[in-house]
Amino acid sequence: MDTTKTMEVTKTLKAVLFDLDDTLLDWSGVSLEWMAYEAHFLRRVFTFIAEEVHPLPSEQNFVQEFYRRTREGWNKGRTSFIAPHLGTILVQTAEALGVPPGRLDSRHCLEAYGWGMVPGSRIFPDVPESLSTLIASGVRVGIVTNAYQPMWLRDIEIAQHGLLDYFPDCRISAADVGYLKPHPTIFQAALDCLGVLPEETVFIGDNPTADIAGAQAAGLLAVLRITQPTPPMLSGLIVPDAAVNSLLELPPILDDWFPGWRA
Ligand SMILES: [Mg+2]
Repeated sequence: MDTTKTMEVTKTLKAVLFDLDDTLLDWSGVSLEWMAYEAHFLRRVFTFIAEEVHPLPSEQNFVQEFYRRTREGWNKGRTSFIAPHLGTILVQTAEALGVPPGRLDSRHCLEAYGWGMVPGSRIFPDVPESLSTLIASGVRVGIVTNAYQPMWLRDIEIAQHGLLDYFPDCRISAADVGYLKPHPTIFQAALDCLGVLPEETVFIGDNPTADIAGAQAAGLLAVLRITQPTPPMLSGLIVPDAAVNSLLELPPILDDWFPGWRA
């Protein structure tokens, strides 16, 4: 006879992690031509190096070498999940054009680059309310992004969007961790940052492979944020635990998964 009393185990929700681009930040209104826009950033780096560190050949060479190395870095990332790093690419570009190794500091290059809010980008209108609802119930929130900028650089941008104060503790960039989503290392870095377990944590993002398959493989429940540029699902291979058109649909889903999570 089985005398074991069935224990009702209530799962606890401790954290919700968000992808950044096209999940919190809406890029659909950005209409500028990217390389023309980024040329201003690269010109500042070129000028800084050429005037303050070491002479360089033409700016055109610098830009071409930068894009060749950027493409190479992202292509390597697609097969290895090793994250490219903007600062490293800038330093290696300069060194390939004659700057002696060790002379150039990547932080100084990135300060010259001078990232910020991109014209036409905005936070989705459902972001403040949904974050406030989570935070008011004691749920920790974090950002996990496949950016090739270190997080301190994207912090400048998200502060300008008014997002930074929502995420005081956990903002993780692939460039800092060294691995891109869907690699488990970057998800674990976020869990470690907040001191939470995968089963206490929900991930939400717009990319089926990086966000959904990656989070699930790391043991998190994964919610697909459906936006205009959401890539197509790999039918039957990647199945999100839930899908939403608005972040305001998240709390009722959490009610099902973590009854009583609202304080
Ligand atoms: Mg995204």
